Amino acid sequence: MFSVDVGPQYEGERIRKEEYYIELGGPHIPFKGELVTIRGMEEIEHEKVIIIGKDIKDVEEGSSHPLFIQVDIAGEALEKDMEPVFERRIHMYCNYIEGFWHMAQRDEIWLRLHKDSFKKGLNSFNEVGQILMLLFTSELPIIEKIQITFVTDAAKVEEMVLEAIKVYQARDDRLKGLIEEDIEDFYGCTLCQSFAPTHICIITPERMSLCGSVSWLDGKAAYKIDPEGPQFAVMKGELLDPEKYIYSGVNEIVALKSLGKNTVFCLHSVLENPHTSCGCFQAIVFYIPEVDGFGIVHRDFVGESVIGVPFSSLAGEASGGVQQEGYLGIAISYMRSPKFLISDGGLKKIVWLPKAIKESVKDIIPEDLYDKIATEDDAKNVDELMGYLKTTGHPLMA
Ligand code: SF4
Repeated sequence: MFSVDVGPQYEGERIRKEEYYIELGGPHIPFKGELVTIRGMEEIEHEKVIIIGKDIKDVEEGSSHPLFIQVDIAGEALEKDMEPVFERRIHMYCNYIEGFWHMAQRDEIWLRLHKDSFKKGLNSFNEVGQILMLLFTSELPIIEKIQITFVTDAAKVEEMVLEAIKVYQARDDRLKGLIEEDIEDFYGCTLCQSFAPTHICIITPERMSLCGSVSWLDGKAAYKIDPEGPQFAVMKGELLDPEKYIYSGVNEIVALKSLGKNTVFCLHSVLENPHTSCGCFQAIVFYIPEVDGFGIVHRDFVGESVIGVPFSSLAGEASGGVQQEGYLGIAISYMRSPKFLISDGGLKKIVWLPKAIKESVKDIIPEDLYDKIATEDDAKNVDELMGYLKTTGHPLMA
């Protein structure tokens, strides 16, 4: 029926640089994204695929392009709050396609199509769309109508990404005021176990999933839609350590889902029993022992971080579902949480941030700390960082 095979056995496939026919999004493409929107029953044409810009078969082998994937769905029982849940399934279902790789989420997506799958005939977004629509409707019968638009036209992608960012922001804002102490259940997600078999995300109102696409409310909605699916309720249980945020219920589920590999999660720490990371994190927190502080580098940062290694090397250290003290994959919005690394000292332990992140979280960094946090312009290595922190009087140097 399709040119290539489709199924969960292809999740976890990697496609190396020399193996791809086409690359879409990724760190070198400034605008890329994906969005699921619930529409009225009459607003969309069921099983229609729209392509705006060049199709796969129209591009040069080995080239990279912008991409926006717009999935429009309709159904009597669908609720607006469910959109992010369906959106995360784009990642899962793309990875079901033989020789098609999808990484990250929202405006950070990165996809590759293997040369072998292109040769087998997967040479159009139309077929990718048909596969995705089949998976969405067969696995999530609550969806009655679906239409998918693939956009590769750079100007249109930029326009759509800028609009989508407003939607992502509005979703994140819904959580304001909700705190861990006020609720009984957290949510868990094991969707990335295909890449990191011992990884589980624990999602609380104050700890967004590290991919940045599953909030506590999204976990709740996902569990409601598909109780047998990859997202589930986690009874938080007893707070065993109020400084390290160790919960009995979290430990139990972490041990169960990691088959005993990990048994304790300190929910808001990088340094002691940190939360595991798969590979979908938006950013990585890394410990810098020379200054007893943390740097953070995001997926789209090009070049070396202040400790002389790029994001990709740090990702190798942090990922794989293994607890790595000193490394933690996070969603950038987690920096906005009042519990952000609270067990390790929180924001005042941050010493280095790329300009792009620093600017995006400017409103939550205390005014008297902002200029004391170095960026790539201020410090390119640890020696320069130490000099900068001393000169500016960063609190860690006091
Ligand atoms: S990063 Fe976590 S929350 Fe996001 S899809 Fe993977 S397991 Fe789920």
